[in-house]
Amino acid sequence: MTVMARFSLQGKRAVVTGGTRGIGFALACALAEAGAAVTITGRQPATLATAVAALRAQGHQAEGRVLDVTQTAAIRHCLSDLGEVDILINNAGMEQICPSLDADEALWQSIIDTNLRGAFFCAQTVARGMAQRQGGTIINLCSLTSAVGVPGAAAYGSSKSGLAGLTRALSTEWAAQGIRVNGIAPGYFETEMTAVFYQDEAWVRGMQARIPLGRFGELEDLAGAVVFLSSPAARYITGQILYVDGGYLAAI
Ligand code: NDP
Repeated sequence: MTVMARFSLQGKRAVVTGGTRGIGFALACALAEAGAAVTITGRQPATLATAVAALRAQGHQAEGRVLDVTQTAAIRHCLSDLGEVDILINNAGMEQICPSLDADEALWQSIIDTNLRGAFFCAQTVARGMAQRQGGTIINLCSLTSAVGVPGAAAYGSSKSGLAGLTRALSTEWAAQGIRVNGIAPGYFETEMTAVFYQDEAWVRGMQARIPLGRFGELEDLAGAVVFLSSPAARYITGQILYVDGGYLAAI
């Protein structure tokens, strides 16, 4: 097999949770371009239908499923119903910046349930089939907060640090079943989730100055990472977190 052929996802089925917009949608496009049949999930039928139509308009094989990843029974129903899944991208996530002296139980519960607990049960559900077939790959969307502290992000940072730990734990536990588990940690990317930061000009100037490559991330900057880690080109890589951050972390 040539080296370029190893990057092909032809014949694979990928699921991207939270694939209706932002990073998840960009990852779904990249996987589909590499040949995978893609299922995206989201909570709202209308935005889901729009995103699926956009993928199909680009000539991709795509379908959508309504799924709230905080609902474990719904995860089981939705992902089991899909049949064989070769690639799972645990992307669905939320962030709410809140001073820790004010954070309440509801905030902690929603962030942990979405970003960490949901990711685990999605992984567990697809891993049962992957283990039977002795093959599959899972990618968890981590964050700079998997590695560094950010004020006001105690719950979010805990969820993403937990996700990095989950990545390492599952990678060791499921390696014998042929399942690779890795993480992608985007740096600063402007999406609906982070839009509020980009309205602050002083923040934008200060942050840009701290990124060695001199700019914020563009969604297509994540395409190579997700295709690579999902593909046979990465067949000996598991338990790793790939930071796609323009060098931000290296400069701290
Ligand atoms: P967006 O808010 O733009 O998109 C989030 C996606 O997740 C949407 O498709 C949303 O769909 C879905 N979602 C949210 N909650 C749930 C839920 N309970 N069940 C199912 N789907 C849900 O965020 P981003 O694209 O910015 O972020 C994507 C991932 O990347 C997240 O995990 C985030 O933490 C991570 N990340 C983002 C960074 C950035 O700079 N943007 C940096 C580092 C990490 P819907 O609302 O329709 O359900």
